[in-house]
Amino acid sequence: MILKERTKSVTHRILESLDHRTTLSPSEKIQYDNQIKGYAGELEFDNKLKDARVPGILISDLLLSTKDTSYQIDSLLITDTRIYLYEIKNYTGSYHYKDGDIYSDSGHLIQSPVNQVERKRAYLHNLLLNNGYHIEIIAHVVYITPNFYIYSLPKTSSILFVGQLTSHFESLSSHQENKNLKLANTLIALHDASYRPTNLPNYLLTELKNGTMCSKCFSFAYTTSRQCRTCSKCGYRENSAEVIHRSIEEFRLLFPEKPVTKKGIYDWCGKDWSESRIKRVLKKHYQLHSSSRSSYYD
Ligand SMILES: [Zn+2]
Repeated sequence: MILKERTKSVTHRILESLDHRTTLSPSEKIQYDNQIKGYAGELEFDNKLKDARVPGILISDLLLSTKDTSYQIDSLLITDTRIYLYEIKNYTGSYHYKDGDIYSDSGHLIQSPVNQVERKRAYLHNLLLNNGYHIEIIAHVVYITPNFYIYSLPKTSSILFVGQLTSHFESLSSHQENKNLKLANTLIALHDASYRPTNLPNYLLTELKNGTMCSKCFSFAYTTSRQCRTCSKCGYRENSAEVIHRSIEEFRLLFPEKPVTKKGIYDWCGKDWSESRIKRVLKKHYQLHSSSRSSYYD
């Protein structure tokens, strides 16, 4: 049972939008590329888990916080007796293990992913305890890419390579269908949907290309019929009101501090859609706040 589906992270969605509306710097390009690869690895993990039909509740991308830190959990599988916490890594290449540390071929030390996942396990344990739940949590680091290897790694149950996933999931199939829905819903309620990381790129509205993009291929070029936007590049058709709504959400993601106004969205959408049409979408999805000096939606 999937209680929370995976979505692209805030960083991923912002970089995706900026990549099409402006030119990313080389370091932002690398950051974007890592986001794409990381997300693809997580989806790969999800598919394997779904195929295995393990009886349990699945929660993806959970953002939780303690008093002084926020942490993201890639995947949680809640069974009747235990919680399995998975940290998914998409590293490629060969590494080697020596005295508790993992080194790349160039000799660089990589931060121990096992320590990282164990820290999250401790945070989650305490959070659940504070909410009245005492349940065993088992944490695993999953290396989802086939061309990744750590030489001389001692046998450890904390690390799962992609080839071990099927048998790992099979070992969980004896669990009973679930009685921990209340616990799962407690965690979902604690999810911080408004979280924004601090290392986002800098950008200004005036630097970005206006217009609506195709949701499949990101092209700005299109033709319209009465109710639809048809992409000139890939032919994908979308309902115009949905295109405008999606573009408003993109604006809000990029500029959470800016008020959403009819005129602002008219410009943002490339002045292609009438203000009355934009107003209809705004009225349908958002609340209007009016004063004598300004009106905005949120
Ligand atoms: Zn398209």
